[in-house]
Amino acid sequence: MSETVELASRDSYLNRCEAVVSVVAPGELQLDRTVFYARGGGQPGDIGIVRWDGGQVRVDDTLRRDGMVVHLISGDELPAPGTPVEAVIDWERRYRLMRTHTALHALSGVVFRDFGAKVTGGNMEPGVARMDFELEGISTEFGRLVEERLNGELIAGYPTEILFLAREIALSDPDLIRTKVNLIPEYVKEIRVVDIVGLDRQADGGTHVRSTVEVGTVRVVKTESKGKANKRMRIELADSL
Ligand SMILES: [Zn+2]
Repeated sequence: MSETVELASRDSYLNRCEAVVSVVAPGELQLDRTVFYARGGGQPGDIGIVRWDGGQVRVDDTLRRDGMVVHLISGDELPAPGTPVEAVIDWERRYRLMRTHTALHALSGVVFRDFGAKVTGGNMEPGVARMDFELEGISTEFGRLVEERLNGELIAGYPTEILFLAREIALSDPDLIRTKVNLIPEYVKEIRVVDIVGLDRQADGGTHVRSTVEVGTVRVVKTESKGKANKRMRIELADSL
């Protein structure tokens, strides 16, 4: 079976799509194409619904398995393979994740540019996120300084572009080397790159907003040490509750 066509990879602003059911298993549904983002790279999977003539199921999470996107579902009736369906994501939650994800990339761009520190890890939920940096020390003052610079950049409105680069091109790109593009499995021949043009450029599978201005204002809510040369910043979107 061919891999699921993942529409969000090229257009993160799609909130629904038509599709056809390909595989049905207990608690799981696969489609020939989907607008749902499968969790990965620190971004949670999408939730939403899949509906068809006469029924619908709720999608509680989305993951990737062997090149296929698996929708984890709950609901009593299931559609048969071959059924035409409409897949609809919870857009409010997803858009918040897009803003959060772009905020994290902008943060990593600012911290590397101004302090030379690389990212060692990160994770996010809608509106809140954490990122770990290769820093010797961290303080509340440092958090405030980074917050100020980050917000100054976000409001400047850097455009975000999605690129698909041949592996050998990506492996010779200094920005991508810095973000460890070489760790992507060898069988991946085309590397998806998220370029916040002029601020941050890295290999990434996630969904992002088109401009940093859509992120809005971000707060650095906590700075903490997670060991030698590993310091954590927690951020949230300013309009989070
Ligand atoms: Zn990312």
